[in-house]
Amino acid sequence: MSNIGIDLGTTNSLVAVVMGGKARCLLDDEGRAILPSAVRYLDEGVLVGHAALHDAAAHAATTLTSVKRFMGRSMDEARAEADQLHYNLAETDDDRVVRVQVGDRSVTPIEVSAEILRALRERANECLLAEPGGAVITVPAYFDDAQRQATRDAGKLAGLNVLRLLNEPTAAAIAYGLQENSQGVYAVYDLGGGTFDISILQLEDGVFQVLSTAGDTHLGGDDFDRLLAAELLSRSGVTEARGGVLRAAIEAAEAAKKALTDADTAAVNATFGDAALSTTVTRADFEALIRPTVERTLVACKRAIADAELDVADIDGVVLVGGSTRVPLVRQVVEQAFGREPFGDIDPDQVVALGAAMQADILTGSSELAEDVLLMDIVPLSLGLETMGGVTEKLIWRCSPIPAAASETFTTHVDGQTAVDLHVVQGEREMAAHNRSLARFKLTGIPPMPAGLPRIKVEFLVDADGIMTVTATEEYTGTQAQVGVLPSYGLEEDEIERMLEESIDNAEADVDERMLIEARVEAEQILRAVRKALAGDAALLAEGEGERLQAVADALEAAMAGADRHRIAELSRKLDEVTAPFAQRRIERDLQLALQGQDALEVAEKLSRPTPAS
Ligand code: ADP
Ligand code: MG
Repeated sequence: MSNIGIDLGTTNSLVAVVMGGKARCLLDDEGRAILPSAVRYLDEGVLVGHAALHDAAAHAATTLTSVKRFMGRSMDEARAEADQLHYNLAETDDDRVVRVQVGDRSVTPIEVSAEILRALRERANECLLAEPGGAVITVPAYFDDAQRQATRDAGKLAGLNVLRLLNEPTAAAIAYGLQENSQGVYAVYDLGGGTFDISILQLEDGVFQVLSTAGDTHLGGDDFDRLLAAELLSRSGVTEARGGVLRAAIEAAEAAKKALTDADTAAVNATFGDAALSTTVTRADFEALIRPTVERTLVACKRAIADAELDVADIDGVVLVGGSTRVPLVRQVVEQAFGREPFGDIDPDQVVALGAAMQADILTGSSELAEDVLLMDIVPLSLGLETMGGVTEKLIWRCSPIPAAASETFTTHVDGQTAVDLHVVQGEREMAAHNRSLARFKLTGIPPMPAGLPRIKVEFLVDADGIMTVTATEEYTGTQAQVGVLPSYGLEEDEIERMLEESIDNAEADVDERMLIEARVEAEQILRAVRKALAGDAALLAEGEGERLQAVADALEAAMAGADRHRIAELSRKLDEVTAPFAQRRIERDLQLALQGQDALEVAEKLSRPTPAS
């Protein structure tokens, strides 16, 4: 069974496989490697790729393109771009996931991507005469957890066994065999259809690490098409074009643009509505139109290099990726900016898919390719810590690329507490008990301090081998404790899947349980503070006030034994409210003390720090 590599692009997608020790892209029935990332929804079923784009102008509202932009995004983020879309966002009350309206139903970007992935899986099945074993799918280096998770889910929905997500620039670097150099710093310049990404990679001991990324999510070959389309429309005397006419102009422009990559002139014969155009565009005309756009990419390049704390001179090589880097002006501008000829002999449309296939092949374990390539992996399930009330506080989210590091500061919640128990868990559930327990350890030797004063910094580090170390440090005293764990060890794919399914099935109940526990924890804190104040400052109480406060406190305590979180929350609020005058008197008294030279204000500020501390 062969493993496949998939480049799931914004504009175009490809699938590749290693055969006879060499990576190659798999072709469709007409010999094309590229599958446009377009899905057209019919009354029943879908058309994917070239078939979806055929006559797209007439079916703009049901032909979905560029949905990768919305993977893992919320409706609000999508609405901000709505006016640039030729399809409609759906009306929905759930703003967490983007939904696009197609006819009388709505679909999510994950479902649309799954259609594209399914078409590639079918292509692989036909070419290989067997279902692919597993798949490596590439994602932009800047994709966050939600976007990576969405990509993984799309793969699963398409029936793929997703072995790994791989960063696109890393895939391109692998395709060029750069890992064989054992070390170096590389810039990967990726100009696609609608997006520009620049990534600075550092190779060390065969491991690629992303030092920085920058780019522009609205800059790419589509801009070249629009600029040239505007020129063509103006040559044909059309002053305002929309819908079908605009699409026709863009199609003519794209064809001319591609022709100009190899030729000095391109003939355009097209009709835009009632206007007919027959003209010639020279490469110089085209370059004059797009030069400012091409030069805009250099701004991001500078930023990425600066973010990596490097200089252009530190870059050992530049890799060209993306169909738009075929444009001669782009190559020229990049060469000038980096002061060196970029790597560009591998087809820039295919280079990411080829690298993904090589990585997929290495994962079969019987690869003829270099076996010693250690590559960025991801954390399969979130890693976190059990905090007060048994709630999980996630530090490293699922699908984060490794190596990964995160830290969070906690504090104690009991006066004079000298030790804290730390419980490291892995999983997506709200309650720690429902997640997988990885390790328990204790931080001892904290000097007795009032609750809330110690600052306990917990650091999670997952190294390139997937080995995790957790360190807890009490910051005032430097007291430290450490434990090592293997987070993904023994986590089989089906176990991961089961845990994810459970977390989705139980999401609502989990949230309720968490909120109940949080309500109790909050009530507990208020109660403790009130009791302490009543005991310590009884002298500040007015006639009968103590009894009144005590009655509310008792009611809250009784409610805490039950499971009605609304009642607990309401009584907590009430207790807060009725104790306000008393609290005010205490603050005034503390102020008096402070004026007498004691730093009560500072103490008060520290005492009010919540658990976990921020
Ligand atoms: P993405 O990664 O965003 O899916 P691609 O890397 O496939 O995109 O790049 C698609 C872009 O490349 C499109 O704008 C397309 O017009 C452009 N392109 C493809 N071939 C050529 C060519 N020969 N000359 C100029 N541009 C090209
Ligand atoms: Mg791409």
